[in-house]
Amino acid sequence: MPFKGGEELKRVYQRAKKDGYAFVASNIAEPNTLIGLLEGSQEKRADLVLQISFSAAKFAGGGQAIPGLRTISYYIKELARNYQIGVFLNLDHMTKAHTDFIEAAIEEDLTSSIMIDASKEPFEENVRISREVVELAHPRGILVEAELGMIKGVEDEIVSKEAFYTAPDEAVEFVRRTGADLLAISIGTQHGVSRGKDIKLRLDIAAQVDRALQEQGFETPLVLHGTSGLLPEQVRRVIGYGVCKLNKDTHYQYEYARTAHDFYRDHSQEIVPPEGTEISTDDIFGIEGWSPVKNAFDPRIVSQKIRERIKATVIELIEQAGSGDKSLFI
Ligand SMILES: [Zn+2]
Repeated sequence: MPFKGGEELKRVYQRAKKDGYAFVASNIAEPNTLIGLLEGSQEKRADLVLQISFSAAKFAGGGQAIPGLRTISYYIKELARNYQIGVFLNLDHMTKAHTDFIEAAIEEDLTSSIMIDASKEPFEENVRISREVVELAHPRGILVEAELGMIKGVEDEIVSKEAFYTAPDEAVEFVRRTGADLLAISIGTQHGVSRGKDIKLRLDIAAQVDRALQEQGFETPLVLHGTSGLLPEQVRRVIGYGVCKLNKDTHYQYEYARTAHDFYRDHSQEIVPPEGTEISTDDIFGIEGWSPVKNAFDPRIVSQKIRERIKATVIELIEQAGSGDKSLFI
């Protein structure tokens, strides 16, 4: 199934909301994670929501974000043809500083949805900025996720502890005025590694926001960021409270790193000269008596291990989120 657009993604989220399951929205910056995610999602017959941040696009573009986004978007589009599931792309955490990037993505049809994050702005400014993106994106069939309430990476910036949770009555007004298709809320999760920290989770806030929206006729799927630290039973609870999109980035980064670490540690004798010898790694190709093993240092070898690890990780996450066997396209 080719890379799909916003209209199909809308149906995917509507079905998830109605039937009570969620999508793991997975951040990518390079092909190993992408291919692992495609493989795992296909095996689970789950539609796949990919995400790319501005800095990841910049990384993929060798320092230039728009060429990086084009490259990743075309890469997904081409690979997705080999899979039956629906494959979607979301632009993660766009801010008002990324206007050119957002416009290029819309103009060149590079994405299925856009997340605009003006949550650090005052309410009225957040509404105005989010509404502007909706007005640009909707005519091109691209969905918009907006955020209300702050999700923190570090706690010491918080002025008031209550201020960073989403207020249910504000959420209704926010969705009505912005026309956002998805709403990212703050219930106390944090970006990055947070398990074991005192994060004061308020899962009930998701339920309150969902109820307030439904009472006013909005079936808006809710989104949670910073979910790498949530326990499986907490994930199940929030899905019951209307959350249809769970963002994951840190978890994959860690699996990537530990797979590479373990591989290189286990094969170090085939990659670097034995300790205590005089052989320098600068001229190993001309030295007699010892040479590195291509099957250990070829980047494709470790990359294959990483792809398999990402595949196993996403399979586990899909099982938690309940989106397996639910693809609308198979
Ligand atoms: Zn986020």
